[in-house]
Amino acid sequence: MKSAFVPRLVNHPFGDPGLFVAFRYEGRAMLFDLGRIDRQAATELLKLTHVFVSHTHMDHFIGFDHLLRIFLARPQKLDLYGPPGIVRNVCGKLAGYTWNLVDNYPFALTVHEVGREQVTSIRLRACTGFAVEPVGETPFTGVLYESDECTVTTAHLDHRIPCLGFALTEKTRLNVRPERLAELGVPAGRWLNQLKQLIRAGRPDDTIVRAEWTEDDRIRAATFSVGELRERLIVETRGQKIAYVVDTIFNRENIARITELVRGADVFFCESLFLDADRDQATKRYHLTARQAATLARVAGVGRLETFHFSPRYERDPTPLRAEAQAVFRGELPADEPQ
Ligand SMILES: [Zn+2]
Ligand SMILES: [Zn+2]
Repeated sequence: MKSAFVPRLVNHPFGDPGLFVAFRYEGRAMLFDLGRIDRQAATELLKLTHVFVSHTHMDHFIGFDHLLRIFLARPQKLDLYGPPGIVRNVCGKLAGYTWNLVDNYPFALTVHEVGREQVTSIRLRACTGFAVEPVGETPFTGVLYESDECTVTTAHLDHRIPCLGFALTEKTRLNVRPERLAELGVPAGRWLNQLKQLIRAGRPDDTIVRAEWTEDDRIRAATFSVGELRERLIVETRGQKIAYVVDTIFNRENIARITELVRGADVFFCESLFLDADRDQATKRYHLTARQAATLARVAGVGRLETFHFSPRYERDPTPLRAEAQAVFRGELPADEPQ
């Protein structure tokens, strides 16, 4: 079965961070971080529905203007999530331009500022010259986005400023076995969606599902228990999980938060600015080493580790950065310990 998400870094590992995730079955995409994105095709960027910004250091946010320019005249909506201060940062960017000829532009941007206690949302519409319209506040739960297919969760990490880590998780896939459905003698219909909803909601096995259909101009019905149908009809496959962590220090609290966020990810995209030999630099600048990134990946039991966001000091030869991360990840070199 093909994976639902197709992730790719938008730049080479020495370039600005950014992870573009295409949704294979939905024709849309999400973006994690907004560094330089001007090498991306506009047709790809226009698939974006949600953008998640870890923090607003320039290398993670300079792509905002480019994105805005591409969306500006389109009848599209975009949701942007970021750490405390993101509303001020976005409004500051918008205040740098003049907006007198955009009255007919339908584009609307909703900004969600993710605090430790609550998420505050505002809307900015091109047709009003991006005047701030309050949308509301919701308690912070760790879940930023949820649909029938997936969730995006976050954790506040310490980069001497708050920095958000993210995980995109596909919900358990529930597929119906067509041959078993034929044996049952009941045509497919809305009752199958209802069954999937009940299974996803964790309802007890003796919950009743009622199927209704028309046969020879007569309405027929049959009832089943959720447990019986799940056993006979449904194939459950664990959903895909992709995690993204950048710009954070290797301390106990961050390790605990990252491990919880990233646990069991199929692919973990993690910064590794420095080699273990330069760990003092990493600590001073609130960044991770390759060894530390791999330690996190090991503890969290991820399937694959992709390191990126390398310091320019290794530009001549990034091989040791990758080699160190993969050796620690495979257990050939010892993991790191927090100070
Ligand atoms: Zn950075
Ligand atoms: Zn940073």
